[in-house]
Amino acid sequence: MQFDGLFSMTIGGRAVAGEHRFDVLNPATETPIAQAPDATSAELDAAVAAARAAFPGWADTPIATRRALLEQLANALMAEIDGFTRLLTAEQGKPHADARSEILASAYWLQGAATLDLPVTVNEDSAERYSETRHVPIGVVGAIAPWNFPMVLAMFKLGPALLAGNTVVLKPSPFTPLTTLKFGELAATILPAGVLNTISGGDRLGPWLTEHPGIDKVSFTGSTATGRRVMQSASATLKRVTLELGGNDPAIVLADADVEALAERLFWAAFTNNGQVCIATKRMYVHEQVYDRLKDALVAYARTVRLGDGAEQGTQLGPINNAVQYRRVLDLIADAREQGYRFLTGDAPHEGPGYFVPVTILDNPPETSRIVQEEQFGPVLPLVKFRDIDEVIARANASDYGLGASVWGSDEDAALAVARRIASGTVWINETQHLSPLAAFGGMKQSGLGVEGGVEGLLEYTNAQTVVRRRNAST
Ligand code: NAD
Repeated sequence: MQFDGLFSMTIGGRAVAGEHRFDVLNPATETPIAQAPDATSAELDAAVAAARAAFPGWADTPIATRRALLEQLANALMAEIDGFTRLLTAEQGKPHADARSEILASAYWLQGAATLDLPVTVNEDSAERYSETRHVPIGVVGAIAPWNFPMVLAMFKLGPALLAGNTVVLKPSPFTPLTTLKFGELAATILPAGVLNTISGGDRLGPWLTEHPGIDKVSFTGSTATGRRVMQSASATLKRVTLELGGNDPAIVLADADVEALAERLFWAAFTNNGQVCIATKRMYVHEQVYDRLKDALVAYARTVRLGDGAEQGTQLGPINNAVQYRRVLDLIADAREQGYRFLTGDAPHEGPGYFVPVTILDNPPETSRIVQEEQFGPVLPLVKFRDIDEVIARANASDYGLGASVWGSDEDAALAVARRIASGTVWINETQHLSPLAAFGGMKQSGLGVEGGVEGLLEYTNAQTVVRRRNAST
């Protein structure tokens, strides 16, 4: 495949350059790397019509065939991993090694989804009747992805949606459309025309998609604020929705944690992908007995981490992905400075082009501070001291979010007892961010609605249908 030059949407199996185009920037240099199509509403209509036309044939295709095609698609992606990796770094900013991991994970997610099965429940099997519930595809899925993990988060949706027999219109973020558009081209060589359509565009395209009467289900990953809008506009035609939204994940480091040994893992819990991870640790509660030791170990490790252009060898953290998010993170840092909070790292601002923010660790800001209460989605971590376990659990749970959380300690039973009291969709013990295509993942409270992954996630792309058959019809 060619990874430069013209980027096209894929509609009904054909490449569509689109009437209008917009620039996509490299966040490390702030210079355009390519242009992407800026879809018109007529182009969206064409994508939805193509998906609708392909639906009956795809729904009737045996699941074994759909499974095999998903595996073929995963293999085709792996065969092009170098090109996808470079392109992902260029448009997203993440270091080469992280971009490569994301492409690997994307293939792995397609393969993982392909192993799932749609369950059939026998409700009654008696002399009088036979009743079973099976799961049938919904129709056309509108899939909307964010810019932090544009490829793998799209695959979270595509694998199960397609396996279940739906067709898809996939919309990437305008900040990171290029890898998705290339993936659409690749998929068009494998899947029947119209089964997967990719469209890119600006701020109008998302609302057009969620309002579109030809879309039966919206699977959305993005911020909680946008998630509310998606739910509202989906209500007009009672579209099914799955919403994977924001988080403010707490990590609770218990008094018996071996903090020197865990420091590196705790650092990356917060700073992987520059903190632009829905399940990044966004507030770290540390028991007062180990607070100073962990603080020192984190600061020492942070000083070894190399920030730079993700395309350069040795870079461990790249730039923030886009100007909007960059300004938001700088605003939170400015607020912390104005409030007089103590900075352990991150005192020297970056000079020159690129949306770079140095790793910033704050020393015990108040619980009520913006940096503790808000989702920063950037490389800024508050370390917060605690003494009493009941009190810290209450603080961890006092949030409208409930996406992920982690508990760290040497006594696993004690850590588990704490974990069970946290109100979040996932709780990890002595690690974070481990997800699987075979395990349900989703948010409680305002972190989302529904789940992705596992059989539970697969079922969200289906309608339950119960068929009741009377035996001995004449009696
Ligand atoms: P965002 O909500 O701004 O955008 C997400 C997507 O929605 C983009 O494709 C965007 O173009 C589109 N969009 C914007 N307005 C829309 C509208 N009115 N209707 C329909 N679509 C619209 O989010 P973002 O800034 O791209 O991503 C960061 C956020 O996503 C963070 O809050 C993060 O926590 C969250 N996130 C959640 C998960 C999860 O699985 N729970 C994963 C990754 C990111």
